Parts: sequence; C-alpha cells; structure tokens
Amino acid sequence: MSRVDILGVRFDALTPDEAVLAAEALPRGSRVVTPNPEIVMAARSDPELMEIINGSGLVTADGIGIIYAAKILGRKLPGRVTGIGLATALLERMAGRGGSVYLFGARPGVAEKAGEKIVSDFPGIVIAGTHDGYFADDADIVEDINRASPDLLLVCLGAPKQEKWMASRTGVVDAGLMMGLGGVLDVYAGNVRRAPKLFQKLGLEWLYRAVTQPSRFKRIRKLPGFLFAALRERGREKK
Ligand code: UDP
Repeated sequence: MSRVDILGVRFDALTPDEAVLAAEALPRGSRVVTPNPEIVMAARSDPELMEIINGSGLVTADGIGIIYAAKILGRKLPGRVTGIGLATALLERMAGRGGSVYLFGARPGVAEKAGEKIVSDFPGIVIAGTHDGYFADDADIVEDINRASPDLLLVCLGAPKQEKWMASRTGVVDAGLMMGLGGVLDVYAGNVRRAPKLFQKLGLEWLYRAVTQPSRFKRIRKLPGFLFAALRERGREKK
C-alpha cells in the first residue's frame, strides 16, 4: 500500500471506500489511527508517538488540514478519511454479518448509550461489551475485552492516550481490529452533534466544532503552525 509522508507521518493514500476495504483486509489485532494536524504536531516532538502511528496497519488523514499540507508539499492524498466516517462504514458492513464491537472510552454511561444508538442504526450488530475511559489500571478491562473477543474495538480515550494504549496492548488484547477514535462515542451517544452536512462537505467541520465547543478553540491554534511547518518542509525539499 502506498503511503504519503506529511511531516513524518506516513498516511495511506486511500479514498474512504478504499480505506474500508483496507481496514477489513488487515491481519487480526491490527491498529487503525486517524491523525489530524494536532496529532501530527504532537508526533513531531514525541518520537514514540510517531513510531506508534507509523507502525499502525492503517493511517488515515482525519482533517482538511492534512489535505492542505499534502497540497503544499505536492503529495497526492485523495481526500479526508475521518475516523467517524470509517468506523460508521465498518459498523454498517459488520451488521450484515452479525459482527461484534466493543466500545471502550468516554465518561461513564456514554459507551452504553452509544451502543444503543449503534444497535438501532445498524440492526444485527452485537455490542460485545462497553467500558468507560477513566481507569487507573486496565487489567480488568483487557480481561473483559478478551472474554468478548470482538471483531472491532473502538478505543476512544483521546489522542495520544488511545494511540499509546493500543500500541502497548497490541498482541495482548484479542480483537479483530482496534481503532483510536477520540470523541466518537460522544457523537454516537448524541452528546456532541456532528457539524451540519454543508460544513462536512466544505471540510469546515473543525470550524463548526470550534465555535460550538469553545473548549476546542485552543486546538485549532495549532493549525497555522502545522501549515507553516509544511511550507518550511517544502522549502527544504526544493533546495
Ligand atoms: N477520554 C477518556 N479517558 C481519558 C481522557 C479522555 O475516555 O482519560 C475520552 C473523553 O471522555 C472523550 C474522548 O476521550 O470522550 C476525547 O474526546 P476529544 O473529542 O477530546 O478527542 P479528539 O477526538 O479530539 O481526540
């Protein structure tokens, strides 16, 4: 599979549909990560995180900022493949086969609520288990996941906690596929609304979220620095 380097993070150059097929074709126990500009910046100053991301089975570009950076660098990335879009497409296809999913992360009660919504949206899917994302020791959680042995494990602890957790539990946790998905359980549970379709289409979901959840505003402050880093990198490559 061809990967495209954006400031050290190697993204899979796939359309959303191709990403679904690629995720399904990964060997059992693989990890999927969906970095946005903020995570790329974090990985640039955290070599362990960079290695974890690049060592994942699938690395998709979550966020229009990544696509802008690809354009700046003259690299070909077909477009965004958001974590929530990829997870939803996988759940939809799994429902037809009676596939099972374990929901791990978010505040107590959120994963259960998300599970109810997933079952009502995709009848046939089996919720293999749930656990909130606030823990001191994860031994019981790992045991619970392994007892359930789900086809898909959604790990929603926020970045980079979820990436580090998945890497440290690779080969320990028994799941078909693990995906690190940030606040996705809050969205499935209906606690956080996705941006209206028009914002999604224009790639302005980040703007909508920043305005409706002011706590997020500090995050998009990272975007200019990220784009500058891409410009500097282009300057270096041209020399
Ligand atoms: N979270 C968690 N455990 C923690 C910290 C965060 O389960 O120790 C959850 C939090 O409740 C939220 C998600 O991780 O559901 C992070 O969501 P956010 O939207 O901040 O993450 P992003 O999508 O931006 O990575």
